[in-house]
Amino acid sequence: MISVAIDGPAGAGKSTLARRLAAEMGYIYVDTGAMYRAIGLYALRAGKDPKDNEAVNALLPEISLRLDSVDGEQHIYLNGEDVSRLIRTDEVGMAASAVGANPAVRAFLLDQQRDMTRTQNVLMDGRDIGTVVLPDATVKIFLTATPEARATRRWKEYQEKGVDISFEKVLEDVKQRDYQDTHREAAPLKQADDAVLLDTSELNFEQSLDAMKQIIASKV
Ligand code: C5P
Repeated sequence: MISVAIDGPAGAGKSTLARRLAAEMGYIYVDTGAMYRAIGLYALRAGKDPKDNEAVNALLPEISLRLDSVDGEQHIYLNGEDVSRLIRTDEVGMAASAVGANPAVRAFLLDQQRDMTRTQNVLMDGRDIGTVVLPDATVKIFLTATPEARATRRWKEYQEKGVDISFEKVLEDVKQRDYQDTHREAAPLKQADDAVLLDTSELNFEQSLDAMKQIIASKV
């Protein structure tokens, strides 16, 4: 089975690019961030502080996640409820980042993520796919861009969705999430030694897509 690991900071374009590539290549797309977001959402709904590891760990036995493709779109189900849209808020993103620093949460998701690669070709995106989840991935890409470029993209997405948020707030969140993701002890965001670095700060979507296709073609 072929696996493509795509890692990088929030807003580098991982999920949009990975989704499109997976569709073109006929691979299954696995958005691991959605799994952390679903756990973050569950903690928030339970009235727990996502940073409180003990409180979150006590919730894990109650959580069942399922990823499914509906009309080519990945949907995530939290105890049977489709939360795909609900998890796309800044608040849940921050909660995801907090629960992502919790080793028990990472262990809870690790087997589920690995299992998905056993019977199908996958393109998996996250923070630790090339370093921890799939150290033997066929292709590893580390996708990045400057915080300003990433915040600009996020802010435009919010504008399109009619979400009222200032650019400064989005940039601050991007930087805070970068800090949390790179400084945590459990599987910090970092480029795998054998990953190919792709900086998309100066590239548009199609250019980024072409660059990724070239990287994949050189390895598969
Ligand atoms: O990619 P996305 O922004 O949806 O991820 C939300 C958060 O989940 C990230 O900020 C990160 O802290 C966490 N995450 C992680 N490991 C992954 C994917 C996401 O820690 N493989």
